[in-house]
Amino acid sequence: MLDLVIRNARIVDGTGAPARPGDLAIEGGRLRQVGGQVPASADARRTIDAAGRIAAPGFIDPHTHFDAQLLWDGQARPALEHGVTTIVHGNCSLSLAPLKAEHRAKLVKMFQQIEEMPDAAFEGAFEWRWEGFADYLEALRGRVALNVAPLAGHTPLRMWVMGDDANKRAAKPDEIRAMQDLLRACLDAGAVGLSTSYVDMDENLAPVPSRYAHWEELDALCAVLGERGRMLQVVPEFYSTDVTVARVDQLAELSLRHGIPTTFSPLFDSAAVPDNVPRVMARVAEQVARGARVWPQVQTRPIDISFSLDMASLYFVQLPMWYMILRMPRAQKIALLGNEGTRKGLIDAAEPNGDTSRFARLRVRDSADASLIGRTLAEIAAERGTTPAGAMIDLSLAEDLGVHFLAAAMGHEDPTRIGPLLANELVHIGASDGGAHIQSFATYGDTGYLFSEFVRKGGYLSLEEAVRKITSEPARIWGLPERGELREGLAADVVVFDPERIARGEERPVRDMPGGGMRYVRAAHGVEGVVVNGEVVWSAADGYTDARPGVIATGA
Ligand SMILES: [Zn+2]
Repeated sequence: MLDLVIRNARIVDGTGAPARPGDLAIEGGRLRQVGGQVPASADARRTIDAAGRIAAPGFIDPHTHFDAQLLWDGQARPALEHGVTTIVHGNCSLSLAPLKAEHRAKLVKMFQQIEEMPDAAFEGAFEWRWEGFADYLEALRGRVALNVAPLAGHTPLRMWVMGDDANKRAAKPDEIRAMQDLLRACLDAGAVGLSTSYVDMDENLAPVPSRYAHWEELDALCAVLGERGRMLQVVPEFYSTDVTVARVDQLAELSLRHGIPTTFSPLFDSAAVPDNVPRVMARVAEQVARGARVWPQVQTRPIDISFSLDMASLYFVQLPMWYMILRMPRAQKIALLGNEGTRKGLIDAAEPNGDTSRFARLRVRDSADASLIGRTLAEIAAERGTTPAGAMIDLSLAEDLGVHFLAAAMGHEDPTRIGPLLANELVHIGASDGGAHIQSFATYGDTGYLFSEFVRKGGYLSLEEAVRKITSEPARIWGLPERGELREGLAADVVVFDPERIARGEERPVRDMPGGGMRYVRAAHGVEGVVVNGEVVWSAADGYTDARPGVIATGA
């Protein structure tokens, strides 16, 4: 008996081939028939009528931080309902394995600082039983509803081998050999590659351990990746075009020397540095022409950041006095914000020489006073005889820091620049940062936004091409041979959606984190069913199911 039949669909198979009408038959978690008609007499446990809908391979998100969330929410909500059936996590040098018990507290602090995840996402939210990578994967098996392709983080690798010296110095030859052995064990267990970072800072605002590695260390680790043809993921110095270009060259050397794919994320476009993307892409093209595999990851979503003064948002990183005060305990922070001298110091720091442009365009997004919502700080400040920074502090104090502000379109927002970039054959669509920065923006729905903004509205990609770029292409780039296409014999990861409606919903705050913590989420529009390894895991009609069919996507 068949497990599932999807009838009357328009099949977009992930290869970029034109959509064609037909049915899908699924048995034992695999695609048994793709296209044509499944006989009406065929016995199936479940049938989905997809008339007028697209059936496509499940979407693959190559840049997420669902590491902690997967342990208390194996469905990675709400990413799954947007059609994402495979995620890469362990990005940006941070993974929860391999990690000795004595380093857990330190690693959690780094996660909180870098990825803006609250204490409650870790503390008491799950039972931490593993140290090695294989045991970590055992902890995921049977509890995830989507497939996972985990990276091993360079930072915990260094901490394991070098202990307290991990963020003090370069590694010695014997330490490099120990890291190689450790990475080899991770790959044997099922890791999809290694992640490292050149920009991130720990909770003391000191560089993370991976940033202390010299070339010899990275080269040696990439030699191990080369034994399996596995991925190196890097966070480059994205704020500097020159340094990013140098990183492209470095990744190209590593790719050519060791025969590995490499990817760097993020690559942002911004009106402030209009030649950033053209210069980086020109260098990528040169290196690809040499045979290097260097994949820039580009997100679909513009950069919108929400925050309240209740938390130390990364929005304030370039304002050290603000950032320092916002990191303080609540009562102390409120007292300082209310202190006349401190208030003046904060305003001077944000608005040097009376230049109020920094906060002027920010809007109030949530307030107990509905008349404030949607208005800019410039308008409110003018009414109240203060400056935008002063208004931000006053409004926050009046509501016990409960007011949320929105910094919209901080970059990467011009569709006439982003559309052609996403369509570029050298660009890897990704960098959602799913599961991170959860109190700054909703990282979900970037795939819906790809279809609504860049397929339907802008016409920069055909539907088939957009599907290809988030299915078979990431599967090929990351070495996931069972995923990314609707083809007989492959794993049955399928998303059924309405091509006229698929989009991301409005961003909204919810309190569904462990301990009642807040995060921003978005619902999916137009997605109707999501199937992982042949099992329905979510449908628009019935919501989430109890199924946990996710596997380690590298085949481990
Ligand atoms: Zn990241």
